[in-house]
Amino acid sequence: MSESFDVAVIGAGPGGYVAAIRCAQLGLNTVCIDDWENSKGKASLGGTCLNVGCIPSKALLESSENYYRAIHKFSAHGIKVTEVTVDVPAMIARKDKIVKTFTSGIAALFKKNKVTSKQGRGTLVTAADNGRPWQIEVSNDNEVETIQAKYVIVATGSTPRQLSFISEDNDVILDNAGALALTEVPDRLGVIGAGVIGLEMGCVWRRLGAEVTILEAMPDFLAAADAQVAKEAYKVFRKEPGLSIQTGIDIKSVTSNKKDVIVEYADSNNALQKLTIDKLIVAVGRVPNTAGLGAQAVSLRIDDKGYIVVDEYCRTGLKNLFAVGDVVRGPMLAHKASEEGVAVAETISAMERGKNDTAYKIDFNTVPWVIYTSPEIAWVGKTEQELKTAGISYKAGQFPFIANGRARALGETPGFIKILADADTDRILGVHMLGPYASELISEAVVAMEFAASSEDIARIIHAHPSLSEVMHEAALNVDGRALHI
Ligand SMILES: Cc1cc2nc3c(=O)[nH]c(=O)nc-3n(C[C@H](O)[C@H](O)[C@H](O)COP(=O)(O)OP(=O)(O)OC[C@H]3O[C@@H](n4cnc5c(N)ncnc54)[C@H](O)[C@@H]3O)c2cc1C
Repeated sequence: MSESFDVAVIGAGPGGYVAAIRCAQLGLNTVCIDDWENSKGKASLGGTCLNVGCIPSKALLESSENYYRAIHKFSAHGIKVTEVTVDVPAMIARKDKIVKTFTSGIAALFKKNKVTSKQGRGTLVTAADNGRPWQIEVSNDNEVETIQAKYVIVATGSTPRQLSFISEDNDVILDNAGALALTEVPDRLGVIGAGVIGLEMGCVWRRLGAEVTILEAMPDFLAAADAQVAKEAYKVFRKEPGLSIQTGIDIKSVTSNKKDVIVEYADSNNALQKLTIDKLIVAVGRVPNTAGLGAQAVSLRIDDKGYIVVDEYCRTGLKNLFAVGDVVRGPMLAHKASEEGVAVAETISAMERGKNDTAYKIDFNTVPWVIYTSPEIAWVGKTEQELKTAGISYKAGQFPFIANGRARALGETPGFIKILADADTDRILGVHMLGPYASELISEAVVAMEFAASSEDIARIIHAHPSLSEVMHEAALNVDGRALHI
């Protein structure tokens, strides 16, 4: 007799494991199936985010930032350090330890919440019908079993996009996992793609001393960000020694002789260029992952880009089948995946209580975006270009970090915060920042927007002095042209 559950979650990334925990908290008998194996062939929960994404990249960003500060910034504080050296294997080991702590932490959270965890690939076999539950096959090297569940949440995430003419060997040509596991600093590093992952990985290895060249096909730098922030960030990054960012390029060929990698490309003026480097990171985005899911067998709709088709409530159109996270439309961000997981768990719980007309969704307009470069970039809501396109009249208030006492004390002065507010109602429509700890500062903007705050609300709130949050306060004051310290 096969095991039977209320809910089966396929995938234990931030979408899947959070959905599973929330389902269990709501009293649903839940199983979470995941096939991730670490480099030692061991099961490792947490998906891309914990194993080769958010967590390891931030661990290395912090380590490399400390090294960079010791060499380039401590002297301004009167701290003299000589012979600063970097031990890359120790840095990687620290990162691996952090990853291990968190991935095994999820196993502990599953145990605490009584979520059944199954290692292996989950494949949809037959759909729920006429009171029959979903049948899911779980297969790993040792066994194949079939389980049943009334509801299924698919959270199978994404994988790195491949370029057909480049074969990544994770030795000299690396994907994001290989970029997080280098054992020494390459003298010359190439990065294809100036998106979030390319910029962050480029930053890590540049701070450790590599000469980094980032090649981006799009004509504009960070096209998704507010144009003013992207322009200012580009200006700041281009001043960084050892970092070159070229946009509007067209890759012609990538060859490797196991020692050097040679990239031939046409630059933005269509002139042929040749870049010779020691390592190449390919970071051209990620694609939704439905491999082995059995989508076709149960007629699950997949769009032409590979995403599972869902409505605003993450419903797939198949009875009791939901999908969340990177495998469905919307930003490929861990917190978006998790919040969709929570929303679906609560929808299922409502359905179980007979409330079939109750469904929960997330608000894409208040999903914060962060890029952990130095300075950091963060935003929420609409950009100026989006407001202009939509014909919405707005007021903008801006304040620079250079005029802020805490930023001066930190020695981190480039950048600014800009608040966009509706010209008539003053409701905040978007907040955009480039500067120190923007990843933390953006939360105030998210809270404000969730509570439909006006710029006047932020202007009237007391912000601690001296703190970076005063830049947000002054930007809000400046929506009405009344910033105090500039
Ligand atoms: C280098 C890097 C840095 C990043 N940094 C950030 C960041 O700072 N902030 C941020 O918000 N986002 C970041 N991201 C993106 C973030 O990692 C993803 O948005 C997030 O992991 C998506 O979560 P998910 O649960 O949808 O899928 P995933 O995390 O991809 O998890 C899916 C899981 O499902 C498993 N799986 C797939 N198919 C099956 C199957 N059939 N059966 C069983 N298991 C299956 C996979 O093995 C995996 O474990 C980063 C990504 C990368 C690569």
